[in-house]
Amino acid sequence: MICRCPFPDCELDSFRQKEVVRDHGHLYISTKEPVFFCQKCNASGSIIKLIRQCKGDPKKFLPSEVLDGKTFEFKYKKFEQFGIYNHFIPKINPDIYKLKRQYLKYRLGQGIDLEKIPGLVLNIREFIYENKIQLTGSSLKLFEYLENSFVGFITTRGTKLVLRNIDDNADIQYHKINLIEEGGFFKDIYGVHLRYPLKDINTIVLCEGVFDLLVALNHPKLREIKEKSCYWAAVIGTYYNKAILSVLDLCNITMSDVVILSDSNVPEKNYYWVSKNISVRSLSVYYNKLGEDFGKLPISLVKTKVENIRRSYDNKPTQNTKHIHSNENRRF
Ligand SMILES: [Zn+2]
Repeated sequence: MICRCPFPDCELDSFRQKEVVRDHGHLYISTKEPVFFCQKCNASGSIIKLIRQCKGDPKKFLPSEVLDGKTFEFKYKKFEQFGIYNHFIPKINPDIYKLKRQYLKYRLGQGIDLEKIPGLVLNIREFIYENKIQLTGSSLKLFEYLENSFVGFITTRGTKLVLRNIDDNADIQYHKINLIEEGGFFKDIYGVHLRYPLKDINTIVLCEGVFDLLVALNHPKLREIKEKSCYWAAVIGTYYNKAILSVLDLCNITMSDVVILSDSNVPEKNYYWVSKNISVRSLSVYYNKLGEDFGKLPISLVKTKVENIRRSYDNKPTQNTKHIHSNENRRF
């Protein structure tokens, strides 16, 4: 849940002084735990603190379990839970992992510069050892196989390593390793930051998988979209609205035009809730006429009905740039 922040000098104050016209809030209230966090002023803590700040009586709003705090272990008590985990990334050695490098060039085009792909991991063993990741369950069992046959991508907030088999005919195509015990407040995505958002260039582009993103990003048919966008993200799943919240936080903006590059098996009506998201100024959905998704060539774009409710709120990027993530210098 997002609303205005009532802490001193933050959003509500500037709203009352009419410094902000119809912007929307930056205070996130978790719907899973009784905690909150403000992206603008970094105020965070228990929901009790927030209610008191609003001059309310916590007893009127909260059940006794929350009030005495006995049955709750706060998962999000640290600021880092809202931020980004940085991991050591092994250098791409030109003498080894020839098959992995060949596969990436086959998927992404010979001209691709592998060094510029954010969070790319070829040496999975070194990555796991150097970052002291404790493997469990199937990740432990499959470890040798993952090391030999998969390429990995670290998600932008550093909570997961998403793995893809370089053998397109293998039974196991995908795998995921959790890099930290608990996920953070925001849904993690795999993102590529293109530029800082400007008033007219603030489109975010979303697709399902990492290869959809990387293939489409380098394809001439999508150049026009690339030029007016600031951030591309693979949602890694289907939670588009959660992914949008996460990307807006990474870009430090509150509202954006959204483009979805959709797999052909997803009907347009599945994106209804995205068009209703108050942070989405306009929504365009594209399909690839020539294939199932955007992860394989060739690509020919088909734009479907455009949700044209252009919400006319102000969308000035904030001054605060703390969240622009660690991969931002590796631009495409
Ligand atoms: Zn605040």
